[in-house]
Amino acid sequence: MVDIRGLKKSFHGKTVLSDISLTVEPGSVTCLIGPSGSGKTTLLRCVNRLETIDAGMILLDGELVGAERKGRHLVAASPKAIARSRRATGMVFQRFNLFPHRTVLENIIEGPTKVLKRPVAEAVAEARVLLERVGLADRGDAYPQELSGGQQQRIAIARALAMKPKLILFDEPTSALDPELVGEVLQVMKDLANDGMTMLVVTHELGFAREVADQIVFMDGGVVVESGPPEEVLVTPKHDRTRTFLSRVL
Ligand code: ADP
Repeated sequence: MVDIRGLKKSFHGKTVLSDISLTVEPGSVTCLIGPSGSGKTTLLRCVNRLETIDAGMILLDGELVGAERKGRHLVAASPKAIARSRRATGMVFQRFNLFPHRTVLENIIEGPTKVLKRPVAEAVAEARVLLERVGLADRGDAYPQELSGGQQQRIAIARALAMKPKLILFDEPTSALDPELVGEVLQVMKDLANDGMTMLVVTHELGFAREVADQIVFMDGGVVVESGPPEEVLVTPKHDRTRTFLSRVL
């Protein structure tokens, strides 16, 4: 579903990602872990084309969406391919980013009606199914500020699902939440994983990563230090940098 090869990204001459390669299989969960500043969020933003890339390439579902620099030639993805990939990719942020002056239902149907041009009645019917799926069937008419952080994040997940994405990117979805609200969001994410959604998740929740991920990618200093199944990377890591990181956070 995602194929990243030799990706490089710098900001103002400072390399943030150097030579990143990774693949995400359809229907699998990949958790990106690593110290703050290691480039995890930037990598997600490159996949969603919120950032341009300097070298390498990104393929989504076999289609080139990132640019590849060959010598002096830049082979850019077509704007149509980028637009298609954005529609096929949901993103859930640390801060839920719901529209504060719109109800929960209005938040969820915004993308389907405005971007996908779906009829309102159809979009509302689907939104109600999604609300049920995230356990908030009775909150469609509420405004975001009337909900807890955990509920708002579950709505943000429903809003991402409303676009029928092939892939959802999660950027530290629970790190802005009070500890007692983390579990309900992780549960919704677990349910999604069990339903076969392809997910790329930046997280500090190593318990979740161990239980749900098919692949763990440990990043440090803009490189992938090691990747593999949770029982390898989290339990028997090969690299000192991974061991040091785990000893600090576990
Ligand atoms: P992580 O998600 O692992 O904490 P980030 O991807 O947020 O790491 O950041 C990696 C590095 O890139 C940090 O040093 C950060 O300051 C830098 N960075 C991220 N975005 C920008 C930007 N828009 N402009 C300049 N530097 C940035």
